[in-house]
Amino acid sequence: MKVLIYSAKDFEIPYLKQANNKKHTLSFTEEALSSETAMKAVGYDAISIFSADEACFITIEKLKDFGIKYITLRSVGYDNVNLRTAKRLHIKVANVPAYSPYAIAEHAVALLQTLNRKLIESNFRVNHYNFNLNGLVGFDLNQKTVGIIGTGKIGAVMSRIMHGFGCILLGYDIEENETLKERYNMRYTTLKELCNQADIISLHLPLNTETHQLINDDLISEMKDGVILINTARGAIINTEDVIEGLKNKKIGALGIDVYENEKNIFFKNRSQELPNDDLLLKLNAMPNVLITGHHAFLTEEALTNIAETTIYNLNCWASGKDTENELTN
Ligand code: NAD
Repeated sequence: MKVLIYSAKDFEIPYLKQANNKKHTLSFTEEALSSETAMKAVGYDAISIFSADEACFITIEKLKDFGIKYITLRSVGYDNVNLRTAKRLHIKVANVPAYSPYAIAEHAVALLQTLNRKLIESNFRVNHYNFNLNGLVGFDLNQKTVGIIGTGKIGAVMSRIMHGFGCILLGYDIEENETLKERYNMRYTTLKELCNQADIISLHLPLNTETHQLINDDLISEMKDGVILINTARGAIINTEDVIEGLKNKKIGALGIDVYENEKNIFFKNRSQELPNDDLLLKLNAMPNVLITGHHAFLTEEALTNIAETTIYNLNCWASGKDTENELTN
């Protein structure tokens, strides 16, 4: 098949080429998919996209006109794809349902401990030969209560890791995970109770109509003073303005995010020469108790290998007239 890989990054191209092993004809473009860039797909059978690509209603209609039959996502989340339109137009869409839940959960823990133990400030001081320890006090994770919102694949790994630190686990999900209850004493609660009791809250939900801006003023007011909030899921699960207010009035003690509500036109490019025109991001960046990474929780060798292999697997299935179990449109 002839496949156009949108939003192709230097770091992933070798993994994709290796997994492909010259089977399909892959072309790479740095550009993200949008209604304007859909034109580039003319002459291809399939495209591959990532989380910053926009496969909305109009874009998918255009892709159909240009002859695209398949879309394979190099991500778990598919909130950026209008599946209903794809289905209606008989374009098959598949994702990579699990490439490494460890990569994301471990990154969430890295954000948490960097904030809790004030590692960035500490390293800054040491770089300046300032060995004063005032203001660097953190807390033991042992016996702290961690609220895991979304206990699917990533939330389950996060639960296991936090249990290893000696934490008490509270969970919130529409489906309870019996293994987490049995092995790690996870107790499922309402969102309100989780917020009332958790010292740390980590988000591992997909973005959908129910989870959009789930973390807002109402819920923040239920949280413990000084709670640490970690979001490696999707930016729009939190209402960023409300969270900034929570940080300002010290309800939220620290915020660690790998994803940001308006990241779509900002992340994944070097913008050091042009300050992003985004006041919320500038406000977040100005706060010492906010740690932001640019959607790179997935960036481990293992995850990139699995993403590439599953992407090529999805294409192989379609090329041989078979369905892939990763299909989202069946
Ligand atoms: P998963 O499907 O295994 O788990 C999601 C969990 O959320 C499920 O248990 C589901 O029951 C629960 N859920 C769904 N809707 C809910 C709702 N309305 N209320 C309560 N619970 C709900 O997914 P996963 O692999 O654990 O990934 C979770 C999310 O993490 C993905 O959807 C993606 O957006 C994000 N993610 C981010 C990165 C990154 O690089 N930062 C990488 C991979 C995934």
